[in-house]
Amino acid sequence: MNSHSFTLAERLIPATYLQQAAAAKKTRECLIRQLIEQRKWPEEGWDDSTIELFLADLAQMDSNNFPGNCGIGEREARIASALVARRHYRLGHGIGRSGDLAEVQPKAAGSSLMNKLTNALVLDVIRYMGVKTSAGCFVVPTATGMSLVLCMLTLKQERPDAKHVLWSRIDQKACFKCIITAGLQPVVIEPCLAGDELRTDLVALEQQLVSLGAESVACVLTTTSCFAPRASDSVEQVAVLCARYGVPHLINNAYGLQSSRCMHLVQEAARKGRVDAFVQSTDKNFLVPVGGAIIAGFDKGLVDRISRTYPGRASSSPTMDVFITLLSLGVSGYKSLVAQRKEMYTYLKEELSKVASKYGERILDTKNNPISVGMTLGSLAGADTKLITMLGSMLFLRCVSGTRVVTALDHKDVGGHKFEGWGAHCSCYPVPYLTAAAAIGMRKADVDLFVHRLDKALGKLRGRSAPPTPTSVEELAVMRRAMRGGSGTLNGEGGSGSEQHSQSSASTSLASSKDSLRK
Ligand SMILES: *Cc1c(COP(=O)(O)O)cnc(C)c1O
Repeated sequence: MNSHSFTLAERLIPATYLQQAAAAKKTRECLIRQLIEQRKWPEEGWDDSTIELFLADLAQMDSNNFPGNCGIGEREARIASALVARRHYRLGHGIGRSGDLAEVQPKAAGSSLMNKLTNALVLDVIRYMGVKTSAGCFVVPTATGMSLVLCMLTLKQERPDAKHVLWSRIDQKACFKCIITAGLQPVVIEPCLAGDELRTDLVALEQQLVSLGAESVACVLTTTSCFAPRASDSVEQVAVLCARYGVPHLINNAYGLQSSRCMHLVQEAARKGRVDAFVQSTDKNFLVPVGGAIIAGFDKGLVDRISRTYPGRASSSPTMDVFITLLSLGVSGYKSLVAQRKEMYTYLKEELSKVASKYGERILDTKNNPISVGMTLGSLAGADTKLITMLGSMLFLRCVSGTRVVTALDHKDVGGHKFEGWGAHCSCYPVPYLTAAAAIGMRKADVDLFVHRLDKALGKLRGRSAPPTPTSVEELAVMRRAMRGGSGTLNGEGGSGSEQHSQSSASTSLASSKDSLRK
């Protein structure tokens, strides 16, 4: 309703009531006006009504929602299911034009405005989290791995003689596969061991730069956020090398945006040397469904060229999820999530070290990894290395997700390349271990449950005499049956033989344990 409508409504409803209603409406409109005017991340989060009001406004600006619209093209944002239309707040045109992800779509002024505002908000977040000199960024509707591909394809186009990517090894398949998908040849730089920690081998990296020749290297790919015991790469020193040799530097900052330490590393690298682009996941950093990433950089021109490498239009879903989330949290909401995460990191480390010392293990000393924590499993492996794998299965069956159990003895073929010690980021890590991550959104109850279940599982494994050697989940079941014949104390939490439960009853016991923890 506009002001004229309000005046007319005075014929039906007392004017004072209408004035009050108009004032309330104005408060919301003012927030929206400020956002468009300043393009700044609001300090306080918006309520859902204001966000929905704005989304409805935006949707009305797209041609598919025009009264009397006559669409005669092959792509007119026609939506068959009302559920689907509602799921997208009636925005159906996506973002971009055929030639550029950042370009305004003539049929969709609303979607285009949302896209521009989201990218402005995200740039604010990046600067707020510590990369103050970032010149630009954009949300891409592909997850981290594919977004890295997009960056590498752009760099490759600009360096026609470049074939290689120097890659500081990190054992996560997507990190390696993105190089191959981009049609480039990975050159693996194994990290070096410093105490418990795995660090960037700067000497080997420089040797490769010299021997391959700068012009044949498309970029150096480093990683900040990773599983312990790997440290964040020494991105600052790599950036200095990249500047010296004139080679692009791409940083995989998958879940580093949530960590001021990782963001500081990126900022320092850009200040002292060369960083072309850094990529982060939207789901890992902003608690939205998987599907998007943010490509950011220090040269607006390069960021624009990467966005132009994307062919065609793109889904606006990841953009909308990020847009809603940033408005809903505001700076203060995100700030407290970031602070909670830091507390959880300390708490996880403390609680895990209690369990570790109970079983003669210890926390790996990895000061340069601000998110992931490792705990040795050396004494467990002393009895039988298969027990390590079994611990992994036991935790999985107890609905513990996200923990990784690493024997450091596995081999894996990824894209035709053989990796020794797969999972451990290097070919000969001296001890088996497990990892857990204190990532944004983790609650104290998650840590408590994890540590409790880990304690039970370790106790169970340790308690067995003459351990059989199961190698798979099926064998585990056989072993369990044998064990249930023995002492009752061998049973885990949640009643007798909890591993025997189906997935759904296991999650029921998860819910009830969580409830009991909240009490
Ligand atoms: C999650 C992650 C990836 C893969 O990201 P997707 O979003 O699944 O493509 C790559 N590298 C690192 C370090 C990650 O944490």
